[in-house]
Amino acid sequence: MINIAIDGPSGAGKSTLSRKAAIALGYLYIDTGALYRAVGLAAVRAGIAIDETEKIAALADKTTVSLAIESDGQHVFLNGEDVTSLIRTENASRYASAVSAVPEIRALLLQTQRRLAEENNVIMDGRDIGTVVLPNAQVKIFLTASAEARARRRYDEQIARGEPVVFETVLADIIERDHRDSTRAIAPLKQSDDAILVDTTEIDFDQSLELLLNTIRERI
Ligand code: C5P
Repeated sequence: MINIAIDGPSGAGKSTLSRKAAIALGYLYIDTGALYRAVGLAAVRAGIAIDETEKIAALADKTTVSLAIESDGQHVFLNGEDVTSLIRTENASRYASAVSAVPEIRALLLQTQRRLAEENNVIMDGRDIGTVVLPNAQVKIFLTASAEARARRRYDEQIARGEPVVFETVLADIIERDHRDSTRAIAPLKQSDDAILVDTTEIDFDQSLELLLNTIRERI
């Protein structure tokens, strides 16, 4: 099976670019952030506070999370319930970040991710795919853009939705999340030595997709 690992910070356009690249190549697109978001939702539902690490760790034994690829894309299941649309909230995102720093949760989700990659040609996106989950992936990409460029894109999206946002707040939020994701003790966000850097700071979406596809096609 061909495995393509795409890692990078939030807001680099990773999931949209990965999904489109997967369609172009005929591979399955796996968004691993959805798994962490589902566990985040489990923690919210259990009434666990965001800093109650031991209670979060204990969830690993009583939680099942799985992915299924259906005609309209990836669905994520929490204890058998389809929670695909419920995980896209700001709260689930905050909790996802917290649960993703807990080793027991990462261990729980590791097997799910590896099994999908063993059975399918995949483009898998996340933070530690090239470094931890699929160290033998045929292609590893670190997709990034400057914090300012990522903040500008997020800001423009929120303004287009009519949300009242301040650019400096969006930027501060991105810088804080980068710091948290890259300094955590377990599976921190970092570019694998054998990953190819794809930087989209200076290019638009279509150019980024072309660069990503060319980078992959040169290697498979
Ligand atoms: O990519 P997304 O924003 O959906 O990820 C949600 C959270 O899950 C992020 O805070 C990230 O730190 C975490 N995550 C992770 N490892 C992955 C994918 C996501 O720690 N492979």
